[in-house]
Amino acid sequence: MNQSLIDVAIPGVQGLHPYVPGKPVEELQRELGLTQVVKLASNENPLGMSPLGMAAAKEVLEGLNYYPDDLGFRLKARLAEQHGVDPGQITLGAGSSDVLEMVAHSFLQPGRNAVYAAHSFAMYAIYTQASGAEAHVAPAMAADDPQMPYGHDLDAMADQIDAHTRVVFIANPNNPTGTWLEKEALKRFIDAVPPEVVIVLDEAYTEYVTDSDFPNGLAWVDDHPNLLVTRTFSKIYGLAGLRIGYGVSSAELAGVINRVRAPFNANSVALAAAEAALDDVHFIEKSQAVNAAGLQQLCAGFEALGLATLPSAGNFVCVDFGRPGTPLFEALLRAGVIVRPVANYGLPNHLRITVGTAEENQFCLRAVEQVLAQ
Ligand SMILES: *Cc1c(COP(=O)(O)O)cnc(C)c1O
Repeated sequence: MNQSLIDVAIPGVQGLHPYVPGKPVEELQRELGLTQVVKLASNENPLGMSPLGMAAAKEVLEGLNYYPDDLGFRLKARLAEQHGVDPGQITLGAGSSDVLEMVAHSFLQPGRNAVYAAHSFAMYAIYTQASGAEAHVAPAMAADDPQMPYGHDLDAMADQIDAHTRVVFIANPNNPTGTWLEKEALKRFIDAVPPEVVIVLDEAYTEYVTDSDFPNGLAWVDDHPNLLVTRTFSKIYGLAGLRIGYGVSSAELAGVINRVRAPFNANSVALAAAEAALDDVHFIEKSQAVNAAGLQQLCAGFEALGLATLPSAGNFVCVDFGRPGTPLFEALLRAGVIVRPVANYGLPNHLRITVGTAEENQFCLRAVEQVLAQ
């Protein structure tokens, strides 16, 4: 057989551009022999993991010869209590990306389409493409929009919905832009989506938002059987390495997507750590405070360097360098700072920078200043 295996893969996979993760610290140290490296590339929590989560994780290590609890009984019970829903409305995933994939797997195939906004989270495109469904990418708000440059344009998204649409992906706040949607506008949009279209409202960063007016998708799940709100322990809870996230929806929708869930997708350590991390109010509040201060520090620092930033409600900021970002990204690597190029998100002149500790932010700002002066 002379054909290469990619030629016999399904068409969706043939055209796939795999997700590009942030460069690991050790890799950069190995490659460039750097001692001090700051990673601000993957929106991880700079304070580490929740200490309560860490203690719970350690306790589980003795029992790793056993398979995890496939029902995730305790974590679901704790989440149900926190969010005022029934445990049967919760779907656990190996990260919330896993839950997004379950939706694509359950509802998308050739001849159907998924709607999402330009410059939104990369996994929407990847799961849509892998399923063989068509991507209906809605143009974003204009680059010079006074409120939300590059943000989701809900009218444009509504225009992309047709009889073959089965999934709409919305990120609020969005990654990599950091932009967000207001409550009334988002509610109106969700109300107008036909009931046979699954709405995925991805709230990966919502715990960073302290404004009480910010939309909480969980409030709408009761009235919308087609709405799935996803959350993650990877961001504010600091458990990215454990891979644990969840969706909240109607029990009906949870029942559908659970049919394609891989058995034991949420591992024992992750289940225990997540359950404990939910109670770690001190860690969450500290993470919010460090993030708010750091976001301000970075935005002020970039402004002082004459660089514009997109409005952000997350733990990262998208910076407009007014020239191609990839060479700057590479120069920053040599200076020991790992950030994220976002050319593959249609933002070739921007870099996305995660909010770190005050020292990490300062290190990053200084490196940017040096690199710009080169
Ligand atoms: C980080 C992120 C996720 C979650 O990733 P997991 O680690 O798989 O939970 C989901 N959506 C967006 C928009 C993100 O930025």
